Amino acid sequence: MPMQILWFRQDLRLSDQRALLAAVAAGPVLPVYILDDETPGLRPMGAASRWWLHHSLAALDASLRKRGNRLLLLRGPSAATLRALAASTGATRIHATTHYEPWWKAAQADLADLLTLHPGHTLADPASVTSGSGGRYRIFTPFWRALLNQMPPPDPLPAPQHIPATDGPDGDTLADWALLPTDPGWSTGFTAWQPGEKGAHRALKAWLPQVAGYETTRNLPSEAGTSRLSPHLHFGELSPATVWHAALDAAGKAAASFTRQLVWRDFGQGMIDTLPDSHWVPHRDAFARFPFRDAPADLRAWQRGRTGYPLVDAGMRQLWQSGWMHNRVRMVAASFLTKHLLIDWRRGEEWFWDTLLDADLGNNAMGWQWVMGSGVDSSPYNRIFAPVGQSEKFDAAGYIRRWVPELAPLSDTDIHAPWRAARPTAAYPAPIVDHAQARTRALSAYESIR
Ligand SMILES: Cc1cc2nc3c(=O)[nH]c(=O)nc-3n(C[C@H](O)[C@H](O)[C@H](O)COP(=O)(O)OP(=O)(O)OC[C@H]3O[C@@H](n4cnc5c(N)ncnc54)[C@H](O)[C@@H]3O)c2cc1C
Repeated sequence: MPMQILWFRQDLRLSDQRALLAAVAAGPVLPVYILDDETPGLRPMGAASRWWLHHSLAALDASLRKRGNRLLLLRGPSAATLRALAASTGATRIHATTHYEPWWKAAQADLADLLTLHPGHTLADPASVTSGSGGRYRIFTPFWRALLNQMPPPDPLPAPQHIPATDGPDGDTLADWALLPTDPGWSTGFTAWQPGEKGAHRALKAWLPQVAGYETTRNLPSEAGTSRLSPHLHFGELSPATVWHAALDAAGKAAASFTRQLVWRDFGQGMIDTLPDSHWVPHRDAFARFPFRDAPADLRAWQRGRTGYPLVDAGMRQLWQSGWMHNRVRMVAASFLTKHLLIDWRRGEEWFWDTLLDADLGNNAMGWQWVMGSGVDSSPYNRIFAPVGQSEKFDAAGYIRRWVPELAPLSDTDIHAPWRAARPTAAYPAPIVDHAQARTRALSAYESIR
């Protein structure tokens, strides 16, 4: 039977992997991952993503070896590298999962004569979620309603027991790629994660008993009230269909609030499919004129969690140390950067891109444009998250104690606003801006572009 290439990208799994099943059905398989920093327009992965990738590829190779195969590692521009590989090995077909990042779409188009694309990265093909007149949705709620018409997604398919191998080149080793960080002061907390398909299924299993309570726990950063599946989903170690079915089996109708968030992920993929520059270009033209401040010291204080606002600082330190941040805190921290400090949302988006383990072109750009108010579906411009009010409302005392330990001795009341405490905490900075003044300044900046 003719040899098949299986091209892995952000679908680093063997279960519910339609591209793999199609390749196995057609002939012996040569699975390949290409480290691509060269395709024109491609946005290289950030440092945290590279850490995850290293471990996820090691896990994928081990799983392939258990099934009689192995992972070939190559480096270069994807389309040219695959074409050369097909020519040198005599492979007749390349199988891959469809992706929506603009550079992946370009590579997919470039390889059209050789490539068979398979679904699975999203719950539904974003292009199939359309209005009655066939148009794509720009607003989440109608998108979600239309997508529900296609749910549940197809049942997940098991991994093949055996994946027949074939000869191929030796390729690189993971060590050649030096994906792991060299800065010893960073990434120390990443070891709490278990990248790879096994770790993803373990995280899903641990989460399922909590799905039914998600609506009440999801906004409480002091609790483990969300799934933390985002890096596993970004790298495709779990298919969204697998998560959807598992959540429904575990909680029935009470899974609705959680599965709705999975649809936000599909919405983000649809956004980059139709608005591919979303990480750079504001969806609303007026925002090109927004009077951002160039304030490197303030940007640095935000990045390092030293703004003097405990909830913001706890989030930014959680990000730095563990590679992840709670969603409620992402919104507050992003609002603080863009509205309290009037720093360009793209500086924040870039920082998240580099430091988040779940950094995702669609979700990250969507999150930042939503907070900035520049997105097609976004927060109203006059919604300025009050960092102290949010901290009190969502009971963040435990979260702050965990990530800003110098504030741990403060009472549950003072910890949200340490300047109110009878005795100041010497090691913790005073607020870098006054909330009321910053709010007024932000509102007038927004007025100026209306
Ligand atoms: C400024 C900002 C930047 C963000 N950047 C990213 C990013 O780079 N990558 C990323 O995956 N998410 C991003 N998000 C969305 C969200 O914060 C994370 O998906 C979520 O916190 C991940 O935690 P979880 O897996 O516990 O999510 P859960 O609450 O358990 O949700 C389950 C899954 O649904 C998806 N999801 C949940 N909320 C959202 C959302 N608002 N938008 C899109 N998908 C969602 C994720 O895949 C998530 O893993 C960002 C949000 C903001 C406000």
